[in-house]
Amino acid sequence: MQNFDVVIVGAGISGIGAACHLQAQCPDKTFTILESRRQSGGTWDLFQYPGIRSDSDMHTLGFNFKPWTDAKSIADGPSIKRYLTETIAEHDLSQHIQHEHKVLSADWSSEDATWTVTTEHTGETRQFCCNFLMMCSGYYNYDTPYTPDFKDQEAFRGEIIHPQHWPKDLDYQDKEVVVIGSGATAMTLVPAMAEEAARVTMLQRSPTYVVARPDQDKIANTLRKLLPDSVAYALTRFKNTQLQHFMYHRMRKEPQKMKKGLIGLVREALGPDYDVEKHFTPKYNPWDQRLCLIPNGDLFKSIKKGKTHVVTDHVDSFTENGVKLTSGEELEADIIVTATGLNMQVMGGSTFSVDGRPINFADTVSYKGMMYAEIPNLIQTFGYINASWTLRADLTAEYACRVINHMDALGVRQCTPRLRAEDTNMPLRPWIEDFSAGYMQRTMDLMPKQGDKDPWRNTQNYALDKKIIRKAPLEDGALLFAKLHLKPIGASASEAEQNAA
Ligand SMILES: Cc1cc2nc3c(=O)[nH]c(=O)nc-3n(C[C@H](O)[C@H](O)[C@H](O)COP(=O)(O)OP(=O)(O)OC[C@H]3O[C@@H](n4cnc5c(N)ncnc54)[C@H](O)[C@@H]3O)c2cc1C
Repeated sequence: MQNFDVVIVGAGISGIGAACHLQAQCPDKTFTILESRRQSGGTWDLFQYPGIRSDSDMHTLGFNFKPWTDAKSIADGPSIKRYLTETIAEHDLSQHIQHEHKVLSADWSSEDATWTVTTEHTGETRQFCCNFLMMCSGYYNYDTPYTPDFKDQEAFRGEIIHPQHWPKDLDYQDKEVVVIGSGATAMTLVPAMAEEAARVTMLQRSPTYVVARPDQDKIANTLRKLLPDSVAYALTRFKNTQLQHFMYHRMRKEPQKMKKGLIGLVREALGPDYDVEKHFTPKYNPWDQRLCLIPNGDLFKSIKKGKTHVVTDHVDSFTENGVKLTSGEELEADIIVTATGLNMQVMGGSTFSVDGRPINFADTVSYKGMMYAEIPNLIQTFGYINASWTLRADLTAEYACRVINHMDALGVRQCTPRLRAEDTNMPLRPWIEDFSAGYMQRTMDLMPKQGDKDPWRNTQNYALDKKIIRKAPLEDGALLFAKLHLKPIGASASEAEQNAA
């Protein structure tokens, strides 16, 4: 059994960031990072498909403590991985990361105010103890992507590939490629593969909003020439968060007007003869699902060159030579890429218990979108669907450090969110509201619930989160700090009060 003050699960953006914040703000705490894979970097190491890149700007996808200094603000996967590797080196984190440790379970004992974390390591079971657990395990299953069952899939003679498991040596030079899907991955893959392939067809059931943006931020690059990196980065980050916030809220407030504007830009890019109505006019409003950003309009350029075709139809079945559509048309293919998405997963697929009681996260209520009612000393990082993930990862890690330091200041070992009397009849809502993307909807019933008032909301609003996470007092009557054993719910008020610090 290895003992630490804090265990961090996952060595992706969130886990690496959490460790850096912990080192800076809680320098006396011992910690380890348990990572199931052989490499660090999470998403930015796993995905290796052609053209892999961010779809939000690196001035907000980067950490608040480490400036992004590359000229491109929409960055390719290897550059993001390099940024993370640099962070690991600069903070001497390698010694703290234990690779090939897949966390299977985490069990809390109120008696000892301790989590026992059980991992699988090269076929063996290992255990770790800690007082505070930070789950930075991302939001999707690394082993099994989402692939619908296509009829007669086995009939296809060519290769079928999912972008999550890209074969390094895949040869697609001069081949006919069909990419099924129209999410961020398909939008990235299609123009990248079209450079070498004979032809790429993007087959979509329904259109997505697509926005072309330059991959370089001129203001950021000018600021960097004039100011120290840290100042230029902070200014650009501020500019981008304000701009994202403004645009998101305008789109939600005036969807019809904004829809017209977005579709108008696509028409301008593709010309009057292109059927924008059919292929690029979604039925839903902007930001009901994530907008797809294409750097320098690469997808539109590829369509205009005749290298990329968009087909809006449904798959009927696979055939020997490609895909048969419900319209009766057949698409020939040597390679079919199923860019059909991710399988969302709660807490890295690990099981949890509190004092022997198994936890089903679908039955829990989120506290500030980071902790859960009746689950002590646990913080999870879950980013934004409408802004860069790391904005929230930084806030979450800062908050965890504040909580840990506050427990020390009070001389207590336990903090637990608990619904107050006035919260008990609060209506419960889905973990994320007003977001219809398939990958979210498929698994929403597995996710924790949120309340309709603070501190129980998962706001998905960075400006608001800065207030309720960074600025709000820790002792709000809902987060209870206790010496050791906080009585389970149902204990009389006086007993609970005796326990509270
Ligand atoms: C292709 C792609 C592009 C994206 N682009 C953007 C973008 O441009 N902007 C944006 O904001 N977001 C983007 N996202 C979302 C993206 O996942 C986040 O931005 C960010 O990388 C998440 O970091 P993370 O560390 O929280 O999770 P991950 O990157 O998923 O890392 C989680 C880590 O935890 C480990 N882990 C999981 N379960 C366990 C376990 N049980 N035991 C031990 N270790 C475990 C994993 O192996 C992994 O290393 C993208 C996602 C994908 C898939």
